[in-house]
Amino acid sequence: MKFGGTSVADAERIKHAARRIVARREQGYRVVGVLSARGKTTDELISMANEVSTAPDPREMDMLLSTGERISCALCAMAIHDLGHHAVSFTGSQAGIVTDTWHTKARIVEVRADRIEQALADDRIVLVAGFQGVSTAADVTTLGRGGSDTTAVAVAAALGASACEIYTDVAGVFSADPRIVPEARKLPRVSFEEMLEMSASGAGVLQLRSVEYARNHAVPIHCRSSFEDAPGTVVDSESATMKHMEERPLVTGVTHSTSESMVTLLGVQHEPGAAARIFDALALANVNVDMITQNVPLSAGGSAEISFTVSHDDLQMATGALQPLAGGLFESLRAQEQMGKVSIVGAGMRTHPGVAAKVFRVLTDEGINIEMISTSPIKISCVIDRGRVETAVRALHAAFELSGPDTVSAEDPFTGAGL
Ligand code: ADP
Ligand code: ASP
Ligand code: MG
Repeated sequence: MKFGGTSVADAERIKHAARRIVARREQGYRVVGVLSARGKTTDELISMANEVSTAPDPREMDMLLSTGERISCALCAMAIHDLGHHAVSFTGSQAGIVTDTWHTKARIVEVRADRIEQALADDRIVLVAGFQGVSTAADVTTLGRGGSDTTAVAVAAALGASACEIYTDVAGVFSADPRIVPEARKLPRVSFEEMLEMSASGAGVLQLRSVEYARNHAVPIHCRSSFEDAPGTVVDSESATMKHMEERPLVTGVTHSTSESMVTLLGVQHEPGAAARIFDALALANVNVDMITQNVPLSAGGSAEISFTVSHDDLQMATGALQPLAGGLFESLRAQEQMGKVSIVGAGMRTHPGVAAKVFRVLTDEGINIEMISTSPIKISCVIDRGRVETAVRALHAAFELSGPDTVSAEDPFTGAGL
């Protein structure tokens, strides 16, 4: 049972989370809770670091950031004691979450769950601090923003848990971010493939790596509200989710991101190996590249133009990594910071022509210019001006008629109990 930041923001909410955890225990389950830092704690810790340093040292950043989730776990354990149950809180390191050495965006390489298992065997409720681990070099690491979701899935996988429940401030995964489209529909079931595309294109409700991990280890996720008891969204394999769907909709959801930046390299040498060297340099700096386009204008005397997008947070890292190649491999670099992205995702579009044309028509009707396009069999993404993202999301959601009656059944998808 993972509780996000809003769900543990103050004393009342921590006590509420404690009661939900205890209720599950009293149903006979052994429970591990994974908690996020309270409210805006992580943002505040980042601001504190920026107040004392212009480029905070990544190792120290992780020492700092990992404290947020420790606070939540210790407090929740105290609240559980007051309810008459035994609880024990663990840091990521104590819980056996072993990661690689990339500070601030480490990847989990192994979960050594013996200590959690021992505590469960001793009839404890275990609370694990989300978003953190210990590196193979024995330093504290964090897993990137939203990383507590990944802690929860990784612990569930290591324990062979019957379910991984992600309790959050919305009722599940919706057909669009309900903050932008209030009439968005709660989706009863989403396949791993669709959720991967949704998380990758900006649906922050589940961290991308948590969905990757869940798919690779076949852990079904139940994403649901921490404030009400109704069932949320089950994320599972396509075969499991298909069983419950009469007819697959063409488009499942519209997602967006307002933290994109676009880099264009002009005058790139048009010869074998140029792209490899450029993207090797970015990979070495651990920069995640999203979309890439290359074209060779007929008029440019054989030189090429390469554009790519990165998260705004990675822009400086990306331009820094490419600077040494300027004047040689390419002539010049242009960065457009204020970009956004809107995407539509749906397994149904695999076999249905005309979806891309409709997306472009909808954006055209809104007077929105498309800077870059990328597609997968089940996704179409367009990079657009950041200021137009909300309009684009609403227009696409309406055009594909994604609002509709809530079809969620009133029973818990894992226990089968009526709610
Ligand atoms: P937590 O703190 O519980 O981890 P997050 O803020 O990380 O919560 O994720 C929940 C938020 O994700 C919601 O408040 C919502 O605004 C946002 N969100 C974006 N896209 C979606 C979507 N398609 N469905 C549901 N929520 C979404
Ligand atoms: N507290 C971390 C963050 O704000 C991790 C999480 O909430 O999942 O990104
Ligand atoms: Mg989150």
